[in-house]
Amino acid sequence: VVRTRGLTKKFGARTVLDGVDLDIERGEFVALLGRSGSGKSTLLRLLAGLDRDSTGDLHVDGTVSVAFQEPRLVPWKRVLDNVTLGLRGSDPVAAAERALAEVELTERRDRWPLTLSGGEAQRVSLARALVRNPDLLLLDEPFSALDALTRINVHRLVLDLWARHRPGVLLVTHDVDEALLLADRVLVLDGGRIAHQSTVGLPRPRAREDRELIELRSVL
Ligand code: ATP
Ligand code: MG
Repeated sequence: VVRTRGLTKKFGARTVLDGVDLDIERGEFVALLGRSGSGKSTLLRLLAGLDRDSTGDLHVDGTVSVAFQEPRLVPWKRVLDNVTLGLRGSDPVAAAERALAEVELTERRDRWPLTLSGGEAQRVSLARALVRNPDLLLLDEPFSALDALTRINVHRLVLDLWARHRPGVLLVTHDVDEALLLADRVLVLDGGRIAHQSTVGLPRPRAREDRELIELRSVL
């Protein structure tokens, strides 16, 4: 779903991305690590089409969902309406309610975004991204404000969606363990390039069991 060659992004005289070659296939779960300021969010914005000011080749096929580092909810729309926003299909409300139930926010459906805690807002933003069943799911540190328990649930949720719908996933995280736990492939962005790629970071046994279970469930 993603193919970039020599993707370059400058802010003024400063080159933030300096020739990024990246391929993500459908069904592939890729984690992106890198120091603060290395250009991870910039890359995601380009892939999401939110910033078109770049040079080099960039191809993205299919539908894209993004969950940002800061949950960008529409403040004058209630939680449920934030999730259904622009959603097509036969019953957007039912789909949004299901997604909210999955992130354990059923009781918050009629709240205003500004009355939510940080972690709740982040989960709404995830529900909004997941409910669209995208071909490419871009996640920019979407788990950072979650408590450990909720994070595990949300990991399962994302893996569950991934196993059922098989989108390509690009997850930005600062948490190496999380990257190794969830992803098939781990990339490091450094000096404006993909400086390191690893498929050695195979899921640890526990996570793999989880994944196999989820995959099994999805075919039953
Ligand atoms: P973090 O891990 O802290 O989220 P990041 O890897 O996501 O960092 P980016 O947000 O992509 O980093 O920013 C990369 C660099 O580009 C930073 O040095 C940042 O200051 C700069 N930058 C980002 N957006 C702009 C902008 N609109 N104008 C100028 N510079 C920008
Ligand atoms: Mg960032």
